[in-house]
Amino acid sequence: MSGFSFADLQRIDRARLGNEVPLELFRAIRLIGMREGLPLEGKGTTAAIGRKIGESLPVSTEEELLDLFAKLRIGLPRVTHREEHLLKIVVDDCFCKGLPVIEEKKVCDLEGAIIEGALGRIMNRKVYVRETKCNVCGDEHCEYEVRWQD
Ligand SMILES: [Zn+2]
Repeated sequence: MSGFSFADLQRIDRARLGNEVPLELFRAIRLIGMREGLPLEGKGTTAAIGRKIGESLPVSTEEELLDLFAKLRIGLPRVTHREEHLLKIVVDDCFCKGLPVIEEKKVCDLEGAIIEGALGRIMNRKVYVRETKCNVCGDEHCEYEVRWQD
């Protein structure tokens, strides 16, 4: 076997601890491990990791992706703007909500890259996601702009 599929990851058999881990563990991996442990705050690596995760998700429509995002408790995404080659997605209750504000720091790049990978596969074209707002830099929510070409 070369690796785990997302379906493999859903096979959980923990008698006493069940299928959840605390949010602070996810934050530790994301914000201490990936941001501080990798060069350049993990930028290129995080994008590659996120895209790979996004491509592996068992979703075949935009709606299924947004549902899964909520089910995985990354955050509660909603589309706030839609035009020909642009989608804006706001995420309420993002995993970063409640962290201390650090001006000019956006920390949800991995989650954007997950969207990029998943939508790229769903739409079968190159998709670009940009993180435009983040709770951590003092915004009212996290937000992404999704763009693509024909
Ligand atoms: Zn966020």
